[in-house]
Amino acid sequence: MKKCAIIGAGASGLVAAIEAAKKGAKVTLFEKNSKCGKKLLATGNGRCNITNLSLELKHFHSNSLKNVKEILKGFDADACIRYFKMLGIEIVALDNKKCFPMSMQARTVVEFLIFTCKELGVEISLNSEVLHVKRSNGQFEVKTLEKSYFFDRVLIATGSIASLKNDCIDIGLEVAKSFGHTIHPSFASLVQLITKKDIKCASGVKWVCNVNVIVDNQVISSFYGDVLFASYGLSGLAILDASRDVALFLNKNRGVKIGLDLFPNISKEALRGLLQKRMKLLLDLSLQRWLEGILHQKLAQLVLDELRLDRNIKPNSKIINQLAHGCKNLTFQIESTKGSKSAEVMAGGVSLDEIDPKTMGSKKVNGLYFSGEVLDVDGDCGGYNLHFAWASGIKAGEAMAR
Ligand SMILES: Cc1cc2nc3c(=O)[nH]c(=O)nc-3n(C[C@H](O)[C@H](O)[C@H](O)COP(=O)(O)OP(=O)(O)OC[C@H]3O[C@@H](n4cnc5c(N)ncnc54)[C@H](O)[C@@H]3O)c2cc1C
Repeated sequence: MKKCAIIGAGASGLVAAIEAAKKGAKVTLFEKNSKCGKKLLATGNGRCNITNLSLELKHFHSNSLKNVKEILKGFDADACIRYFKMLGIEIVALDNKKCFPMSMQARTVVEFLIFTCKELGVEISLNSEVLHVKRSNGQFEVKTLEKSYFFDRVLIATGSIASLKNDCIDIGLEVAKSFGHTIHPSFASLVQLITKKDIKCASGVKWVCNVNVIVDNQVISSFYGDVLFASYGLSGLAILDASRDVALFLNKNRGVKIGLDLFPNISKEALRGLLQKRMKLLLDLSLQRWLEGILHQKLAQLVLDELRLDRNIKPNSKIINQLAHGCKNLTFQIESTKGSKSAEVMAGGVSLDEIDPKTMGSKKVNGLYFSGEVLDVDGDCGGYNLHFAWASGIKAGEAMAR
């Protein structure tokens, strides 16, 4: 019977523990928090978006996408849904293809995973922060504050520092480094953006936009969806999706702008036509009031400020083009992202080139395994990060028990 240690009782650690125990391993699950799956509880706004019916590779990001493809092989959305059904959780897919537990509660997922671990005899060691993992006489020494433990195999499932409020080191990456693994620099992704300009006047408004990421006056990527205007800058699903590209270029010290099309479902010509028609009809309104007829009041103010137009003048044909352009290209220079403490995931991590995608085992150190976000994989919003955590955790758990 293999003695296995799993470091981290999050998404991938919990399923790995289940699979390793099912295969007959003696499993100890180390968790630094006082309960398992703390981050999982916060996922999907407390509802846990466990996977997505559309799992194309384009939704994942890594320096080694071919290995991501290998890891996901055999574990598609249907397999994921079947897996949770087998644990006792019904899954529903929404119109946008995102899948959630039918209870719409992340705690259902956490509690069923813990229950299954316990049923299978997994020893869960809470409040047990692992400080380091070392090789010692053909075994692995796992050291916590209290004592050292010895195991045949170790899985690093420590996730990332995304959303952790205190400054802390990423122990998963430290352990990987100490065993000679290559680490791709990590950076915050799925994160809010801080604008150089103060846009507090629009704070609280949620508006469907087309979001362009602009570098050197070139649009490098576009995203469609909700944008939330905040006191510090921009948030919302479309911004979180855009944030990866923004961070990539900011890290290269390149200037990055976000261009918002406030009327993504109307062409510029159609918008111009609408503005012209309104101008002829509504001669007595102030520019601000006139614009409020088609745009949220706070956004109307923001657009007029950006275009440096006096909100009290009457609309006139000279400014129609300027307004149509301004509404379709409301552009903000980005200062920075809000960083790891606000992010949903960290991009980068342990290089997949040094991991066997069939077992999640290290190609450098026999008996050492990695799963989940500690690896150099991150996904878009929509269940992709959890899907990768389940897929890699299940593979690692099965393999380490062999
Ligand atoms: C607010 C928020 C919402 C999200 N929503 C979604 C969503 O809806 N869908 C989606 O796909 N993804 C979502 N994500 C991302 C997703 O939660 C992660 O990608 C996923 O949990 C990663 O799984 P993991 O097992 O690698 O790490 P985690 O689930 O983070 O688990 C790692 C565990 O290791 C423990 N640990 C760390 N260091 C040590 C140590 N030294 N000793 C012992 N234990 C340690 C941690 O405490 C943690 O419990 C969200 C993330 C956040 C922050």
